[in-house]
Amino acid sequence: MTTTIHEPQNAATGHDFLQRALPDVDREIADAIRLETDRQNDTLELIASENHVSRAVLTAMGSVFTNKYAEGYPGKRYYGGCGPTDIVETIAIERAKKLFGAEHANVQPHSGSQANMAVYFTVLKPGDTIMGMDLSHGGHLTHGHPLSYSGRDFNVVAYHVKKDDELIDYDEMERLAEEHKPRLVICGASAYSRVIDFKRIREICDKSGSLMMADIAHIAGLVAAGLHPSPVPYADFVTTTTHKTLRGPRAGLVLCKAEYAKDLDRSLFPGIQGGPLVHIVAAKAVAFLEALQPEFKEYQAQIIRNAKALAEAVGNAGFRIVSGGTDNHLFMTDVFSKGITGKDGQNFLEAANITVNKNTIPFDTQKPMVASGIRIGTPAVTTRGLREPEMKTIAGFIARVLDAKGDAGVIAQVKSDVKSLCDQFPIY
Ligand code: PLP
Repeated sequence: MTTTIHEPQNAATGHDFLQRALPDVDREIADAIRLETDRQNDTLELIASENHVSRAVLTAMGSVFTNKYAEGYPGKRYYGGCGPTDIVETIAIERAKKLFGAEHANVQPHSGSQANMAVYFTVLKPGDTIMGMDLSHGGHLTHGHPLSYSGRDFNVVAYHVKKDDELIDYDEMERLAEEHKPRLVICGASAYSRVIDFKRIREICDKSGSLMMADIAHIAGLVAAGLHPSPVPYADFVTTTTHKTLRGPRAGLVLCKAEYAKDLDRSLFPGIQGGPLVHIVAAKAVAFLEALQPEFKEYQAQIIRNAKALAEAVGNAGFRIVSGGTDNHLFMTDVFSKGITGKDGQNFLEAANITVNKNTIPFDTQKPMVASGIRIGTPAVTTRGLREPEMKTIAGFIARVLDAKGDAGVIAQVKSDVKSLCDQFPIY
């Protein structure tokens, strides 16, 4: 018989295992990370919901807090050893409240969808009526789409944009609210380029006796910087993702009035989640600190200037811009107006290292997987330092690729031009 008391047979139980670098442990995943880093450096990222986070945020996400279980909330945990975790979560909560002027913040949602679910579980019962913006007019799946939990468990009434100007039809919203008396009215969007009138929506809710939830996942950075009116004074609940204009880790956040704080916290944990992702909460805290700095306001202002410049230049190249322009970080382009589907447009542009996403536009005649539009956003390219002159250049790239309808020679030329531009603005 052999004995292995001092030399564990399984290296995985030894110190060496803990210290080995990723490429030595898992070459395939290390290579994929390298590929993704190169892809991000060499690509013009125009997906409106994406961004490039700072090294500081990446470091917090990759920290030892990933090891920690911390069910509960600061000072009231179901696990021992939560001292440093309480520091992190308390700081994140206080920064979120300060950033948005909110009475209460829950920083534990793993995602935007879970932030919304936590609110629904706080104030709704199955079968209750909710009102949200139609997905194909700019809303989000979790605002009542039949394929999402939000469309399965509740009776959904959808509001729309107007056909003539593609702006939210507040009169329809008011009419529907009075008729259906929804328990909750959801506002906020994934593909809407204009200012949302949260004050008007509060008035509508007051008339119909509805609660109001604003999902500011897309515009959170603009709201934090004071460049889009805030829903916080009006809405009972405000939800957001933290990874879009807010430029934090991939996660969610709920803000609410103090009167709902206890119920909301209980709905999130133990209602719909287990242990918080403490490393992600730490990264949220870092992102909130970054967003509290004066430079963040300038960054958000540049996002809007870039979106306006890009929309104008794409429009000048002959593409119809939904609602005629943008007030925020994104706009929708009707590429079908030039005989290209959104799906083809996305694929042609990706081949030239420009990433966008196909998107239905209001009153679309195409199926969602094909779509007539592409959604274009400027948060990520603004992070890497591009400004208005580069937006004109990018509009030229987009027009060349789309007008050539997939011509391989044109795509190769544009790809090379994109690489030259990206090389001037490295990210990581
Ligand atoms: N709400 C809105 C308005 C969104 O645009 C999104 C995501 O795109 C979400 C919620 C969902 O966020 P997540 O993907 O983190 O679940």
